Amino acid sequence: MLHPKPHDTTSENPLIELRSVSCGYQNNSILENLSLKIMAGDFVGLLGPSGSGKSTLLRAILGTAKVYSGQILIEKTVSSKKQPLIGYVPQLETIDWNFPVTAEQVVLMGRITHSPWLPWHNHQDRKQTLDIMTQLGIRHLHNKHIRELSGGEQQRVFLARALVGNPKILLLDEPVSGMDIKTRDDTMHVLDQLNHEGITILMTTHEINSVAAHLPWVICLNKSIIAEGPPSAVFTADILNKTYNAEMPITEFEGLTIVAEKPHVFGKK
Ligand code: ADP
Repeated sequence: MLHPKPHDTTSENPLIELRSVSCGYQNNSILENLSLKIMAGDFVGLLGPSGSGKSTLLRAILGTAKVYSGQILIEKTVSSKKQPLIGYVPQLETIDWNFPVTAEQVVLMGRITHSPWLPWHNHQDRKQTLDIMTQLGIRHLHNKHIRELSGGEQQRVFLARALVGNPKILLLDEPVSGMDIKTRDDTMHVLDQLNHEGITILMTTHEINSVAAHLPWVICLNKSIIAEGPPSAVFTADILNKTYNAEMPITEFEGLTIVAEKPHVFGKK
């Protein structure tokens, strides 16, 4: 069970603020007129079907998707391409696993924003790298090629790379997708712990019942924001239907809201 802090809707000082943002790629807007506030200390789940713009929203905050109109403010300052406040973990599928690097070298890459003009890493970089790897339980894997690691270990290596730059914000693109239940729960506990240490987290997920339902705040996205709020308020048949364009009945079990995907009968006419 996670114990994240509640979303503070009263704060006037959002850590991340999107004001009427339209953003996308190659002059093509994917998200239009999006407004959003993420407060310091938040742990937010971003939900929506494939292609709904979740990754694009993360990339726009990171500064790698194009913003055509509106503003993205990080600590009240207009977001720029090099964001030292942000640690980003992309979807594992987007990574080239043949690239010849060890786990430790991947994590060290996260220090580049600290000494970008140096072609080598100093003692402090290495120490910080190994400390973070110890904290995430992957220190013993430092010499392994990243391709040799399990999905859960790879996810932790890239999480360590994001953390080694001391970010205030973590943007995580499907950090638990494809994991077995134990690895997923372990990873969510690591994230919960980091959130309690003060890191603000925005993560995309497809896991509604096992992940999003345990977060204090979720945003339902389908090219625009359909709804946001605590899962108990947002997980209604109407909102989920609008988000996923599919029927998703809701049931209650021992005080928990469970979202059911309406079973599809294959092979029947
Ligand atoms: P999600 O993360 O919710 O699956 P994405 O943000 O990846 O959605 O994609 C939203 C839309 O943006 C899709 O139509 C996708 O084809 C398009 N898209 C994503 N990345 C790129 C890119 N690098 N260049 C052009 N279009 C992209």
